[in-house]
Amino acid sequence: MSSIAPSSTAETGRLSSYKRIVVKIGSALLVENGKLKRAWLDALAEDLSRLARGGAELIVVSSGAIALGRGVLSLPSGALRLEQAQAAASVGQIALARAYAEALGARGIVAGQVLLTLGDTEERRRYLNARETLGTLLKLGAVPIVNENDTVATSEIRYGDNDRLAARVATMASADCLVLLSDVDGLYTAPPAQDPDAVFLPEVAAITAEIEAMAGAAGSELSRGGMRTKIDAAKIATSAGTVMVIASGKELNPLGRIEDGARATWFAARSTPASARHAWIGGHLEPRGTLQVDAGAIRAVVSGKSLLPAGVKAIEGEFSRGDTVRIVDPDGRDIGRGLVAYDHPEALLIMGRNSREIETILGYAGRAEMIHRDDLVLSDHTLGSTKTSDMHKTQDNTQGSEGNA
Ligand code: GLU
Repeated sequence: MSSIAPSSTAETGRLSSYKRIVVKIGSALLVENGKLKRAWLDALAEDLSRLARGGAELIVVSSGAIALGRGVLSLPSGALRLEQAQAAASVGQIALARAYAEALGARGIVAGQVLLTLGDTEERRRYLNARETLGTLLKLGAVPIVNENDTVATSEIRYGDNDRLAARVATMASADCLVLLSDVDGLYTAPPAQDPDAVFLPEVAAITAEIEAMAGAAGSELSRGGMRTKIDAAKIATSAGTVMVIASGKELNPLGRIEDGARATWFAARSTPASARHAWIGGHLEPRGTLQVDAGAIRAVVSGKSLLPAGVKAIEGEFSRGDTVRIVDPDGRDIGRGLVAYDHPEALLIMGRNSREIETILGYAGRAEMIHRDDLVLSDHTLGSTKTSDMHKTQDNTQGSEGNA
């Protein structure tokens, strides 16, 4: 089968070929009659530990807090009022997190709990903080267990469904694969329960109006995470370079089954997470300021390193942390763009200074970088000029996220 994944090493149908995988677990898989399905969770933990041993970094986005909490609190069946759902989530989330910590812990994997609200993924400053936390957990070898913070999320400011939340988490973490496990095994041309002629689609190359129409068909409004939210998730994920898979989690070891070729719908990504991110930084945001940097800093960023405060010689504009800024050389020539890690008053205070001095100057231990290398995109001519100079580093190194900080 030809690969629909843009990453050179990843192969469609082979989860183990992806490097950073987000797995979304639907409530119905994990909770039955208000009780946790421990055997199912243990089998999932087995799947996860196999992927982790193979070198993948993993993030789990798990539903089930409300379903579990409602069991513990003996709430009536049927729709819950908002405050009841919030109370149920409060009680259920503890049980859910503990269950993951135990199941993964038994396999030598540390779990961390991350509860997000809509603002954490949509407001740039909070987005950067959440991304940093996820990245640090992964670097430390822990598996973040993510859910929406349902106890404080109200209807206007919540995702409500974990399909879209999982897609935003995947793009935030620059994951190369997102797996949505629920009780549906993939996308059909029509709802299979109602239409005997419905045809299963193993691969979706692009989310066209036709594909959206398939998802919008009847039945999707009944459940929170119907096909509609899954296609929304696919749009978010694939446009950010993340391949997405919809597969059934009804049987034990669903990830192992996908690896063994179980029925699933694979949505192709249009690029890689790194190039999608670079396109976003490079093109879509209006710069709010300018950092003038010295020759040493230019050499560092061209060789794939971060821009440190020490290399910044002048600052213009009133930007906030997370804003895009232009980077220029001492003659004002454009070097590139990046997301700045400091508000401009702090940036002014630490520019030209050694990163070790940041805490003394600002009174708190800030980031060592003014712009982290993952948040930095060099202009084409900057890259071009380095090819003819003494920089023999590969272009990949300057563009990718693998260079040295
Ligand atoms: N965050 C909700 C919970 O944990 C689930 C949302 C969904 O079903 O997608 O209960």
